[in-house]
Amino acid sequence: MNTATLVVGIAELVQPAAKEGDGRSPIEVTRDAALLFAGGIIIAAGPRATVAAHPRAHRAAALDVGGRAVVPGLVDSHTHVLFAGDRIDELARRTRGETYESIARAGGGIARSAAAVRDASVEALVDATLPRIDSMISRGTTTVEAKSGYGLSPEAELKQLRAISALAALRPVDVIATALAHAIPPEFETERQRYVSLFCTEVLEVAAREALARYCDVFVASIAFTPDEARTIAAAARALGLGLRLHVDQLADDGGAALAAELGALAADHLEHTGAAGRTRLAESRVIATLLPGCALFQADALWPDGRALRAAGCEVAVATDCNPGSSMLTDLTLCASVAATRCGLSLEEALWAVTCGGARALGLLDRGRLVPGEIADFVVVDAADWRALLYWPGDSRIWGVFKRGDRIFSGDRRTDEDDA
Ligand SMILES: [Zn+2]
Repeated sequence: MNTATLVVGIAELVQPAAKEGDGRSPIEVTRDAALLFAGGIIIAAGPRATVAAHPRAHRAAALDVGGRAVVPGLVDSHTHVLFAGDRIDELARRTRGETYESIARAGGGIARSAAAVRDASVEALVDATLPRIDSMISRGTTTVEAKSGYGLSPEAELKQLRAISALAALRPVDVIATALAHAIPPEFETERQRYVSLFCTEVLEVAAREALARYCDVFVASIAFTPDEARTIAAAARALGLGLRLHVDQLADDGGAALAAELGALAADHLEHTGAAGRTRLAESRVIATLLPGCALFQADALWPDGRALRAAGCEVAVATDCNPGSSMLTDLTLCASVAATRCGLSLEEALWAVTCGGARALGLLDRGRLVPGEIADFVVVDAADWRALLYWPGDSRIWGVFKRGDRIFSGDRRTDEDDA
């Protein structure tokens, strides 16, 4: 039997509820707590005296976190983290008043990232992405979704998915791959249906056969795929056993939330323009509503998604970084949670739920996000006794340690006041 580890000195243990709603707090906080795990799986968690009395606790190795708070490992459920090159000059042009659309028409935007991906090898894509994954880990992320979508040809989409699997083998975080139908390549603009068919047969079928993706995603928007094209792609994904997630209502309220409900998507992401009818449909259909507040933080002309209205409608809400080189160049999920609270109307408790249990649910993962027995021991030790410190310094890490399946994969080296004493 594996030696167990007993984590002690936990000032606050934060355990998200299995579901949001019913008027209860989305998280439960236990003071003076302990956590017991073995083989990377949680055995017991709760009040110190209760956990210490567990039979497996007696010969356990002790890990004292020195009076700090412990929260679940963060789950970033929507990213385009795998790309090549950068688009720094596009940021500069937008700050001078050019629009995303005008830059895209002049060959920038997704097409520019696609050209960089087409020219890169799998190894180069992996090398370019690893520092971003490391940055995510340093901010508490222990599970990350990564999408293709900068290929814009079947061959390059599959290259991206192969690079995503290679990433997963090089870092201790779990990487969940999604095949994304991101845009119609310009050369297919007059025969869109042919690209939709190619995506289904030459991307999704291969991805499913070679286990290169768990999900399919479609960007539904006037500049990307129509609802009917999304229906065709979703039907193909379902037949292949791939789960569905959608980018919807990012640029206008064009019925994307209702489409996500109709198609049984696990998650509907963006939702900047979703109105009351769409919010109700998401709640009724139990589609996880994912906010990507990095887009409004990064782009002056983007709207903040209305997290408060989504919660009031009864939606369960996740928050993700949407890490990408054009519209949300962010790897810090704690920053996104903080901004989801200050700009999108979530409480701090809802924001923490959104990046832990919410992110896990948005990826269909039931084995993480809550710090309860049977789950994997993914957790973050906050460098403060009050867990809310994690969200109180946006952009400035308050993380003492990040643990994946019980192993410490990041140590914060912040000096404390005591160091100066
Ligand atoms: Zn996205």
